[in-house]
Amino acid sequence: MGIDGGIGRLPLAVADAVRTGGGEIRTGAPVRELRRTADGWTVVTDGEVLRADAVVVAAPAPAAARLLAADSPAASAELATVDYASMALITMAFRRDDVASLADGSGFLVPPVDGRTIKAATFSSRKWGWLRDAAPDLFVLRTSIGRFEDEEHLKRDDADLVGMSLADLGAATGLDARPVATRVSRWDGGLPQYPVGHLERVARIRAEVAKLPGLRVCGAVYDGVGIPACIGSARTAADELLTATLAAGAVGGERE
Ligand SMILES: Cc1cc2nc3c(=O)[nH]c(=O)nc-3n(C[C@H](O)[C@H](O)[C@H](O)COP(=O)(O)OP(=O)(O)OC[C@H]3O[C@@H](n4cnc5c(N)ncnc54)[C@H](O)[C@@H]3O)c2cc1C
Repeated sequence: MGIDGGIGRLPLAVADAVRTGGGEIRTGAPVRELRRTADGWTVVTDGEVLRADAVVVAAPAPAAARLLAADSPAASAELATVDYASMALITMAFRRDDVASLADGSGFLVPPVDGRTIKAATFSSRKWGWLRDAAPDLFVLRTSIGRFEDEEHLKRDDADLVGMSLADLGAATGLDARPVATRVSRWDGGLPQYPVGHLERVARIRAEVAKLPGLRVCGAVYDGVGIPACIGSARTAADELLTATLAAGAVGGERE
C-alpha cells in the first residue's frame, strides 16, 4: 500500500486536518523542558512557556528520556536504553530504455550472510504506479545501506554510496546503466531497535508514565516502527488523555 505522490504527503495532510480542526502546529520549536504543576504541565520551548492540561510526548526515545527525566526518572531511564539503527537511502533515476533488461519484481532484500554493502533494493517505478505515470521515460530505484551494528559504510560520502550501490546492483541483477540523477537521504538514528524484552520494557515505561495525570507517550519506540503502528499508539494516547480529561471536567490549556 502507498499514497499517490509519496508517503511524504501524509504528514502534510495530517497537519492540514489539524489546522482545519482549529489546532495550532509549531515547527522549529523543540521542547526543552517538561514540568509537572499542581494542575497540569508546563512546556518550555526556546521562546515560550506553555501551560497544558495534558501532554503526549511523541519524540524519539533520547528526547523523550530527557523530557521525562525530572518527573518520571524510571521511565526516562528505560527510554535511555533504546538503541537506534542508522541508514541511508540511495535513490537513482535511470533512462527507462537503459534498464529494459532488469529482472521482474519490485526489488530484493539482501541477507547479511551475502556480505554485500546494500541491504535492499526497491524498484520504485515498478512498485508505485503513480511514480511510473509521473515519469514514464525514467526508471527510479533505490537501495538502502546500513543496519543495526553495521553502519561503518555510512561514514562515506554520497558519491561512494552511489558507487557501492551500483556495484552491488550490477552483481545482483546485471544492471550496468549509469543513473541520470541520484539523491542520498541519510536517516541517522532513524529506526528504534526491539530486542528480546522490548514488550516488557514498553509496559514498564507506560506504567511509570501513567502514574502522572495528563501524560502519555507514543511513536515508533513502543508498539511497532511502521507508520500504522505509530498512528495506533498516537490514537491510544490521545483517547486515554481525552477520556481522563473529560472525566475530570477540565478545559483546554492556556498560554502563560
Ligand atoms: C529509511 C526509513 C524507511 C522507512 N520505511 C517505512 C515504510 O516503508 N513503511 C512504514 O510503515 N514505516 C517505515 N519507516 C518507519 C516509520 O517511517 C517511522 O518509524 C515513523 O515515521 C516514526 O514516526 P514517529 O512519529 O514515532 O517519529 P518521528 O517521525 O521521528 O517524529 C518524531 C518527531 O519528534 C520531534 N522531536 C524530537 N525532539 C523533540 C523535542 N524536544 N521537542 C519537540 N519535538 C521533538 C522530531 O523533530 C520529529 O519530528 C521507515 C523509516 C525509515 C528511517
